[in-house]
Amino acid sequence: MSLLADYKAHTQERLNEGGLPPLALTAEQTAELVELLKADSVEEAEYCLELFKNKVNPGVDDAAYVKAAFLNDVVQGNVSCSVISKSEAVEILGTMMGGFNVTPLIEALKVEEVAEIAATQLKNTILVYDAFNDVKDLMDAGNAKAKEVIESWANAEWFTNKPALEEEIKLTVYKIPGETNTDDLSPATVAFTRPDIPLHATAMLQSRMENPLETMASLKEKGNPLAYVGDVVGTGSSRKSGINSVQWHMGRDIPGVPNKRTGGVVIGSIIAPIFFNTAEDSGCLPIEAPVDNLETGDEIIVKPYEGVITKNGEVVSEFKLAPNTLTDEMRAGGRIPLIIGKGLTAKARETLGLDATDMFIAPAQPADSGKGFSQAQKMVGRACGIEGVRPGMYVEPIATTVGSQDTTGPMTRDEIKELAALSFGADMVMQSFCHTAAYPKPADIKLRHTLPDFINSRGGVTLKPGDGVIHSWLNRLCLPDTVGTGGDSHTRFPIGISFPAGSGLIAFAGVTGMMPLTMPESVLVRFKGEMQPGITLRDLVNAIPYQAIQDGLLTVPKKNKKNVFAGTIIEIQGLPDLKVEQAFELSDSAAERSAAACSVQLDKEPIIEYLSSNIALIEKMIEEGYEDARTLQRRADKMKEWLANPELLQPDEDAEYKAVIEIDLNTITEPILACPNDPDDVDTLSNILADDNRPTKIDEVFVGSCMTNIGLFRALGEVLKGEGEVPSKLWVAPPTKMDEAQLTEEGYYAIFAAAGARLEIPGCSLCMGNQAQVSEGSVVFSTSTRNFDNRLGKNSKVYLGSAEMAAVSALLGRLPTKEEYMSIVPKKITEENKDGVYKYLNFHQVSTDHLTTLVTSR
Ligand code: SF4
Repeated sequence: MSLLADYKAHTQERLNEGGLPPLALTAEQTAELVELLKADSVEEAEYCLELFKNKVNPGVDDAAYVKAAFLNDVVQGNVSCSVISKSEAVEILGTMMGGFNVTPLIEALKVEEVAEIAATQLKNTILVYDAFNDVKDLMDAGNAKAKEVIESWANAEWFTNKPALEEEIKLTVYKIPGETNTDDLSPATVAFTRPDIPLHATAMLQSRMENPLETMASLKEKGNPLAYVGDVVGTGSSRKSGINSVQWHMGRDIPGVPNKRTGGVVIGSIIAPIFFNTAEDSGCLPIEAPVDNLETGDEIIVKPYEGVITKNGEVVSEFKLAPNTLTDEMRAGGRIPLIIGKGLTAKARETLGLDATDMFIAPAQPADSGKGFSQAQKMVGRACGIEGVRPGMYVEPIATTVGSQDTTGPMTRDEIKELAALSFGADMVMQSFCHTAAYPKPADIKLRHTLPDFINSRGGVTLKPGDGVIHSWLNRLCLPDTVGTGGDSHTRFPIGISFPAGSGLIAFAGVTGMMPLTMPESVLVRFKGEMQPGITLRDLVNAIPYQAIQDGLLTVPKKNKKNVFAGTIIEIQGLPDLKVEQAFELSDSAAERSAAACSVQLDKEPIIEYLSSNIALIEKMIEEGYEDARTLQRRADKMKEWLANPELLQPDEDAEYKAVIEIDLNTITEPILACPNDPDDVDTLSNILADDNRPTKIDEVFVGSCMTNIGLFRALGEVLKGEGEVPSKLWVAPPTKMDEAQLTEEGYYAIFAAAGARLEIPGCSLCMGNQAQVSEGSVVFSTSTRNFDNRLGKNSKVYLGSAEMAAVSALLGRLPTKEEYMSIVPKKITEENKDGVYKYLNFHQVSTDHLTTLVTSR
């Protein structure tokens, strides 16, 4: 079949799949289309033009390269096209958003016949990066149109040419009562469809609402765009795909960009911070306003400047638009385009010798209290070149380390393409393949073949499927007291600080090496006293919400929920001797608290040990062919630099916190678990057993996820040793291949096998939610991060707790009593063997051969 016949058939197929639009043209298809357009007589000219204009991805997509090259040839007279004139070619180039279209547009400034049109297109193009200098060179050489372009950028016409955010926005409400997490919007079970936005959007709210697609379709019949309304919106993982789906159903088309929309309005009594930022970045207006008076089907008018929502002429909700720059962000098409555009305007003004413009709303900055700074405030301050940052300050810290995982990776890649970037500005960008390692779908396999090159060619580092969980690796690439981010909500560095984000912001941070941030307040969690026998670090993780509940700072029910941690930085003090691997258990769990970030105050010694180990690992990775070698070496060198003068930022005594939570270790005398199915619903083992509503028989046990480290698997092995097959179904998934190899060598895998465990390859495994799952309706004990409904398996009820509790629960097939737990664990993990059990992988202390074995074990 010909291209056109093929594409028509494909279009019909997609239409039959619930009215989906066809996929964008590939580079090969675009090349075929170009050949058709070059013919003297173009068959189906109108259809061909429609495909060429609107079905090719913009930016630095391979297909965009083909499209831009052909248009350049038309403009330069190298080819003739009967259906695209030179002027039309320039106009089409102008819809391609930056990247491969920029050079042809600059070249067109030299072609008198089209220079005017080219200038108009460039004036509205902001993704030009270094090509700015080419326009400047042309201006300096006397090209009047190039001068016009620079002047236009200086006057921010790219911004003023766009309509301002409307005074009144008429919408129809689609209300999702209670809390929606991002898995409701973008289910992990269909993560592989995320790059196909229209297809993925068909899964939105399917497990949460009755017939959501039909409901939205009928609501749209009123003729207004829909507003997404909820009590608590966007908790859980950082998923740009969630916003993509909301925008697909509730936003507007972007001319020249296939299968993606912008705009949309989200109204929530509470909007989770990462989700809020992701909406801002994407040009979707997030409004935090009470929603009690809003119901599905209501026709409302949102007045963003007045801060009111009216229904039938009555004010039904009031709000203050925040941040104060939101109106500019929406006008620019999102926070990211605004930052990039402002940078371009500043550069152009500097070039023309003009003062800074006051055309944009300056971010509101809080008054300086004159008090000291917390550890996190100092870390962010250092990344901004100042001593410290006050809560509420808008800043743009250097993002030193940026992580991406495989289920968000394709979206990050697409965002990088849209940013039209061919290299990374961040010092370290790392891509993992952990989420889909165990049971990849065809789309995951395709990604494994294509994404590494994309990342490596821009200077990023890629892992391999089977290497292990993103954080267990990314943490090992971190530098003390630096700032970073990652497209996975558990990107919570144990040293330094990380503010996880959606894939749009990850792409931006990776490309530019900085990230926009409104500094959150901090909540100090201070441990004191002595750790009691039998108590594990995971119990301390659960002790944080437990104590917050006692202090009246956290409530469990979703309605009118109180959560002191939401959107804050949790700063942990009082456990300075923790190994960095242990510190990560604490920082990782900040995601479950809905915190924006977490910092842990550690002494130098564990960090020195960790970095020394990591340098050995990194240098072995380089030797074994991991790419990008230069980036890896640069990071190892920076670690060596730090080790030469190991200084850590310390919080000031008079630093201010939103709240201080004190946890006395002497009072924690039994395991604390998170109960089904809410990580905030924590209680002591005794209380859980005393509650008849809590299930106690344990059907399945999962030991794995980024919350684990090698010591916990040895602990599991020690408890199971000599006990034969366990009654519960046991899943074991070590976080990295090095852990797996070491545990195998030490004989623990033989113990797991004897216990009847199902051994998963290193990676996220059950924790991810779209890989293997537990049996429907089963009661599970898990060491993983979160126990949201259906994450580990349909209708499963999941307890979260330590590996030691997991081991005893597997052994007994039920939750143990406190007495049983306290008698079994010390018998198995004794004073004599415990140092060998809780021993971390110190790569600098093993032989070169052994290190090679560990790093090449898969
Ligand atoms: S183990 Fe779970 S929480 Fe950790 S990165 Fe993987 S899916 Fe996310």
